[in-house]
Amino acid sequence: MNVPLISVPQANPGAGYQALKTEIDAAVARALASGWYVLGAEGRAFEGEFAAWLGAAHAVGCGNGTDALALTLRGLGIGPGMSVATVSHTAVATVAAIEMAGAQAVLIDIDPVHYTMDPDELAAVLAHPPAGLAPIAAIIPVHLYGQACDLHPILALGARYGIPVIEDCSQAHGATLDGRKLGTFSVASCFSLYPTKNLGALGDGGIMATQDPALAEAIAALRQYGWKMHYVSEAVGVNSRLDELQAAILRVKLAHLDAQNARRVAIAGVYDAALAGGNVRAPARRANASHVFHQYVVRSPDRAALQADFRSQGIATGIHYPVPVHLQPAYIGRVAMGPAMCRETTLASQQVLSMPMFPQLADAQVEMVAGALRRLD
Ligand SMILES: *Cc1c(COP(=O)(O)O)cnc(C)c1O
Repeated sequence: MNVPLISVPQANPGAGYQALKTEIDAAVARALASGWYVLGAEGRAFEGEFAAWLGAAHAVGCGNGTDALALTLRGLGIGPGMSVATVSHTAVATVAAIEMAGAQAVLIDIDPVHYTMDPDELAAVLAHPPAGLAPIAAIIPVHLYGQACDLHPILALGARYGIPVIEDCSQAHGATLDGRKLGTFSVASCFSLYPTKNLGALGDGGIMATQDPALAEAIAALRQYGWKMHYVSEAVGVNSRLDELQAAILRVKLAHLDAQNARRVAIAGVYDAALAGGNVRAPARRANASHVFHQYVVRSPDRAALQADFRSQGIATGIHYPVPVHLQPAYIGRVAMGPAMCRETTLASQQVLSMPMFPQLADAQVEMVAGALRRLD
C-alpha cells in the first residue's frame, strides 16, 4: 500500500520546544543549577506570573490538570455524598477528577454548534435532578477547543442554587469572553499544562487560579500532604507538585503565549477562508468571545472518508474525542446523565475532526491544509 508520509502533523510539541530552544535550555540549566527541584523559586515565580497574566489574585501549581480539578473540588469541600455537573464531550480527565474527589458526576449534553455545556439542560437537571443522584454541589463547564462555553447562564444557575462554578480552562489559556480572560469568572478555574495545550510544559503540569486567598492556601496544602507547616498534615492531602524544571520552562512559554495564540488565530483565519462557501462549515465563533483555537474542529457525517482523504495528502488529523465519557467502558451504564442522555454529545463524537493546529505550522503547511479544505465539497 502506498501511504504518503505525513508532512503536516496534527500537533507537534517538539516544534514548540525547538522554537524556544535557546530560552528553554537556559531556563532548564538555571533550574538544574539551583539545587532545588520541587516547590521552589521557579514555581513561586511561575505562579505569580501566571496569576498576573490571567488577572487572578492567586494561582497554585500542581502535578497536572486532573489534579488541579480534583484538588479544587476538595478545597471547596466537595466530595462523597455530592455530585458535580459537567459534560461528557471533554477529556475524560474532567470526569475522572470529580470521582477522584469522591463525588459523583452528572453529565449534561452539549449545544451542537459550539460543543459546550447546554445551559438549558443544566437548568432542567438542577430543577429536577435524576432519581438517586446525590445533591449537585458544583458545576464544571469546559471551555472546549479554545472557546468559551455559554458561561453567563451557567454562572447565573450556580448563583441561583448557591453552588460554585469551576471553569475547566485546560483548552482555553488566553481566550476571553466580553474582553475578560476565561478563568476569572468563577470561584476557581483549572488549567492543564500538558505538552500539547496552548500553554504546555515539557512534561506534566497543572495550575488552578482563584481570587480567594483561603481557597488558594487550602489547595497549596492539599497538593503536599495537607501540610501548612512542613511534616505536619492539617488535612489529608496528596502529592501533586509542579516541579522546578517544568515551572522554569513554563515561565519561558508563558511569555510567548499571547503571540502563539495570535498565530493559532491567524491559521484558523486561513482555514476559515478555505472553507467559505463550501459544505463543510468553519467552526462557529461565539459572539463577544475570542477563540484561541486549541483545536480547529470541523464536522462531517462521513468523517472516516474525510480523514482518509487528508491522510492521502500527507495531512494528519485528530478526533477530540472519539468516545464520549458516558460510553467509555469505565463509565458506561453507571454515570448519571441529564434527560437528553447526551444525544448531541454522542453524535458529535462520531463526526468531529480536528485539523492540524499548532503555532509552529509553517505557512506552506497551512497552505497545504487550506488547499485540502478548499477541495472538499
Ligand atoms: C487536558 C485536559 C484536562 C486534563 O489535564 P491533564 O493535565 O492531562 O491531567 C482536563 N480537562 C480538559 C478539558 C483537558 O483538555
